[in-house]
Amino acid sequence: MKYKFCPKCGGRLKIKKAAFPRFWCLDCEFVFYQNSKPTASALIIDGDKVLLGKRRINPSKGKWDIIGGFLEDGEHPEAGMKREVLEESGLRVRVIDRLDFIMDTYGAEKESTLNITYIVKIRSGKMKPGDDISELRWFSIGKYPKNIAFKNGKQMLRDLKRWYSKRNIYVRSFPHSPRIKKLRN
Ligand SMILES: [Zn+2]
Repeated sequence: MKYKFCPKCGGRLKIKKAAFPRFWCLDCEFVFYQNSKPTASALIIDGDKVLLGKRRINPSKGKWDIIGGFLEDGEHPEAGMKREVLEESGLRVRVIDRLDFIMDTYGAEKESTLNITYIVKIRSGKMKPGDDISELRWFSIGKYPKNIAFKNGKQMLRDLKRWYSKRNIYVRSFPHSPRIKKLRN
């Protein structure tokens, strides 16, 4: 059992079996709801390249990862993504699009995660790897290294390739081209 004691009163927890099992306190009847942990990631692109970071820490130490991380309590995903990007790469970014949500698990405990992915471009800043990253490197979209961290990371990069092949005409001239404006209207 993942949790034994009630976070409110310290009483014994019991599992109520259901489609999604519930931790339920025998003493104060508190229901300790569990949710997938939200993460926010940034596919930082420039032309036909995407920026990845090599993980300095476990899990998946030494593998290439999409820049991002877990959201704090009450934090908007876009704000969390921008905070993580600044911490891990020294860059400030602007959002140009989003991908679909991806479900995955994280670490030895197999915590469920809900992964939110933004496609972004660099606005300002000086590129410098953060504490959790040993190296930052540009890769061609669709030509990724084999050792990508996490199932959701691989999925994000596949989705980015699909997104890029559909949208690269727009991306190249985004956002200043009057031709694009005309296409949108
Ligand atoms: Zn309790």
